[in-house]
Amino acid sequence: MNNKNIEKYQCPECQSESIRFKFKVTNKEANSAYANVTEEIQCASCFMDIPANVFIINHDSNIEDNKKIWKSFYKPEHIKNAAQCSKCDLYYWEIEKHLSTKNITSTDIFYQSYDTKGSGGKMICRICDPEAFNDNKQ
Ligand SMILES: [Zn+2]
Ligand SMILES: [Zn+2]
Repeated sequence: MNNKNIEKYQCPECQSESIRFKFKVTNKEANSAYANVTEEIQCASCFMDIPANVFIINHDSNIEDNKKIWKSFYKPEHIKNAAQCSKCDLYYWEIEKHLSTKNITSTDIFYQSYDTKGSGGKMICRICDPEAFNDNKQ
């Protein structure tokens, strides 16, 4: 082994070096920016889910390039598809960040409310309706 293979994590959004978790993803659309993304990392500081390939710093990547790629290539697509509360308009990472300040670290932060007129589900977040989340009570 040589130490050129050592990787470290650094968030291209906020530059934090701590991660919350890493998870596998399967991509839906072949034409999206995310077509080749197989793994994402959730930052422990800004709570965004970010493709692992721009979260890992190794011998052939650096934070400045990762930031550029994230901000110009992945992030616009991510924001388009990101889960957002239909009441308060916050995105999932804003909600998770807010909840973490109250020591709620669950990733269960949305429920869907269906309206009877059939216009589909609306996402309601845990901040807007904390009562709906029973695991709150311990
Ligand atoms: Zn971050
Ligand atoms: Zn909300």
